[in-house]
Amino acid sequence: MPKTRKVPMRMCVGCREMKPKRELTRVVKPAEGDAHIDLKGKAPGRGAYVCPQEECFRKARKSRALERALECAISDEVFQAIEAQIPQAQEALARQAQEDEA
Ligand SMILES: [Zn+2]
Repeated sequence: MPKTRKVPMRMCVGCREMKPKRELTRVVKPAEGDAHIDLKGKAPGRGAYVCPQEECFRKARKSRALERALECAISDEVFQAIEAQIPQAQEALARQAQEDEA
């Protein structure tokens, strides 16, 4: 029997697919200060989401989808931070998937 708990869904700004929130990388724009990556997914502010995948990241960066979603400039440091956490995020997802099957 599959689990029927409700999973919050968000749209990836790269592929524009709806995915479970916890599977996406969140970038947040707080009321004060610059946009930054939100690894815990709980920082207050406007959030935008991207899959932890090179393809989505590249698309999001090229199309400026994150800038549009957050209505602010995104610095190179933020893009670097997103790109840098892709491998860890993928690992975490793989681990999570195994736990879900167990
Ligand atoms: Zn995506």
